[in-house]
Amino acid sequence: MADCIFCKVVRGEVPAKVVHRDECIVAIEDLNPQAPTHLLVMPVEHNATLWDAIRAGQGDATVSKLFEVASRVGTERGGEQGFRLVVNTGPDGGQTVGHVHVHVLAGRRLTWPPG
Ligand code: 5GP
Ligand code: ZN
Repeated sequence: MADCIFCKVVRGEVPAKVVHRDECIVAIEDLNPQAPTHLLVMPVEHNATLWDAIRAGQGDATVSKLFEVASRVGTERGGEQGFRLVVNTGPDGGQTVGHVHVHVLAGRRLTWPPG
């Protein structure tokens, strides 16, 4: 999608610190980290939400790869104390970028419940 910031990141039109890239998934460091490790894992293919990606028929491959990469980078970069995966969805979910992405947060003790 032409004016989507994460599509621009995927295409290399906006600079980003890329920690993983393959034909269907890209993972980058968040511009405004909320924890010592804060990564964003996104499909190359544009869909606004996780449900949109599943409905688009990418559920079997892309969505499972999305969580595979998120779990891998969380395990590799989060350290032994674990990590949290978050998918903010829609206005009430706190989503600000309309291209599905998984936050990987690690490196400090995260509180619960979320704000
Ligand atoms: P959301 O609020 O949609 O769940 O998450 C969007 C995330 O994208 C935020 O944590 C925000 O800091 C991050 N973000 C927004 N624009 C950019 C950008 O251009 N580059 C990077 N690396 N992160 C961004
Ligand atoms: Zn996009």
